[in-house]
Amino acid sequence: MRAHPAGPRHGEIPADRTSVVPADLNDLDPAVWPRGARRDHGVMTLAGNDVRDLAALYGTPLLAMDEQDFRSRCHDFADAFGSAADVHYAAKAFLSSHIVKWLTQEGLSLDVCSGGELRLALRAGFPPERIALHGSNKSQHELEMAVEAGIGAIVIDSFDEIGRLAGISERVNLEAGTVNGSTRRIPVMIRVTVGVEAHTHEFIATAHEDQKFGFSLAGGDAAEGVRRIVACHGLELIGLHSHIGSQIFDPSGFEVSAHRLVVLLKSVIADHPRLAASITTLDLGGGLGIAYTSADTPPPVDAMAKSLTEIVERECQVAGLAVPRIAVEPGRAIVGPGTVTVYEVGTIKDVNLDGGVVRRYVSVDGGMSDNIRTALYDADYTVVLASRSSTAPAARCRVVGKHCESGDIVVRDCYLPADLAVGDLIAVAATGAYCYAMASNYNRLPRPPLVAVADGTSRQLLRRETDDDLQLLETW
Ligand SMILES: *Cc1c(COP(=O)(O)O)cnc(C)c1O
Repeated sequence: MRAHPAGPRHGEIPADRTSVVPADLNDLDPAVWPRGARRDHGVMTLAGNDVRDLAALYGTPLLAMDEQDFRSRCHDFADAFGSAADVHYAAKAFLSSHIVKWLTQEGLSLDVCSGGELRLALRAGFPPERIALHGSNKSQHELEMAVEAGIGAIVIDSFDEIGRLAGISERVNLEAGTVNGSTRRIPVMIRVTVGVEAHTHEFIATAHEDQKFGFSLAGGDAAEGVRRIVACHGLELIGLHSHIGSQIFDPSGFEVSAHRLVVLLKSVIADHPRLAASITTLDLGGGLGIAYTSADTPPPVDAMAKSLTEIVERECQVAGLAVPRIAVEPGRAIVGPGTVTVYEVGTIKDVNLDGGVVRRYVSVDGGMSDNIRTALYDADYTVVLASRSSTAPAARCRVVGKHCESGDIVVRDCYLPADLAVGDLIAVAATGAYCYAMASNYNRLPRPPLVAVADGTSRQLLRRETDDDLQLLETW
């Protein structure tokens, strides 16, 4: 992979991803598959559930989420960052009411970026003070909802939003009759665009200067944003926030962003000494990477946590500042690895390529409606035959969906056993993040069920959509 200031560039996977034929097509690399994934007499089991039974119970395609995998990754983050940090799960990777409950039980905090995510979290009983609201264009209504619920922080993304929040705060305090003395102040952070691009694919990069998020540091907008927030009596600035990208393996991008945030913090405190007490948090954002294939080598969470903590401590020491709390916002790294998508093979077609090479197109009963990441980001995935093992030789395959679009690819280049047959079940690893969350009804396909597996049992967190669901909006 090519070097990059903020880490390897995930998008630049070697052109020919099928150059290496796996030694054993039945192997389940523990770095890629859920912690509860095994083979039992050749058949894939997930937390003790035979995938054939899951398919029979719930139909295919289906997403199976290893509950213990999810919970253990929450523990990993909480343990690794310890009491000096707040771990916010990024809801946008995947959210359901059960996930909210698990997060509540595991003691994590939660990032939401829309009214819909916020409403679900509140309805499922998540403590509002542990919620932060993000977003580049939060509506008046979303901001009001957040303020009324008393969430822990609103991450301000624009000058317009400062104005909107100032208005809301005035109204809230007027209504409460607290204008003198006891003004209720809305806790806010400011999202700073630190000019670090820490990933790999232009379409999922979020920290160029040339992008929609945050206040530009280099352009002076961040300093001006702080000035305007501080001037607004109803807002309390509690932290500086940055988010430098996704699928990051190398902490050096965070090093640059932490350095720049600390420099900003120092100048802000120099200008407004009282902020030394109120700015308690340095939020480094999310983006910690996972292994989609055995070629991906993300650092262990504790190593990443150690790096980030040391970086912030060192930067603060150099700047002569007290070390603030660190916040991190992993989404993919918590929910991604524990889920697999199970599809049934529907058609198999061999296509002759140049040079006598054959590519076998394996069509499954889902596709870009349940996993858009391959089409959108050129993402790579690992796929295996799940309903049985096989000793047949490897066949060069492409797993495609059933949508009317040639870009409907689930796994672009892979090897599957040459005896793969119609009716076999195949499983795609690490589909917990940004698959269901980005799912669509393209071609009027119902969204698949999401099934939690634990201790040999299974239950639906989300049922499969029905035709009635799909026609719910029709006015006939
Ligand atoms: C998307 C996002 C995250 C989560 O990113 P992951 O790659 O899933 O860890 C965290 N924070 C912010 C602000 C985001 O936009």
